[in-house]
Amino acid sequence: MLAVNDDQERLTEHGNERVVELSRCVGCDGMFPTIDGPAHRYMKSSAGYREVYGEVLSREYSDAAFWAVHRLTADTYAVQHPGLPCRQAIQSVGAHLIRIHLILERVLRKNRPQPLTSDWENT
Ligand SMILES: [Zn+2]
Repeated sequence: MLAVNDDQERLTEHGNERVVELSRCVGCDGMFPTIDGPAHRYMKSSAGYREVYGEVLSREYSDAAFWAVHRLTADTYAVQHPGLPCRQAIQSVGAHLIRIHLILERVLRKNRPQPLTSDWENT
């Protein structure tokens, strides 16, 4: 029997069980599989996180239903993984936060209950 601690995760695939070592992402603090892989030029994240992020992007690129939230996915990734506080990273996070705000505000307005009559109809 395999022991599993907080830095491991037991996965079952097709009846085979394996234990995956987990590492903390330097950007978002989440736990992801420990793997080697490429890093972004200035946005810092673990290779395990980037692999999971790549799977999410792959699904968004291949299914129109998921494509609808692609901008939120990319903007959220950028905000959660700013990297070192240099001018480029600070400007990037600012731009992504503005876009997240605009997207969410549009969704909130769209779902906000509308009055039975609008103000211009009463004048
Ligand atoms: Zn992360």
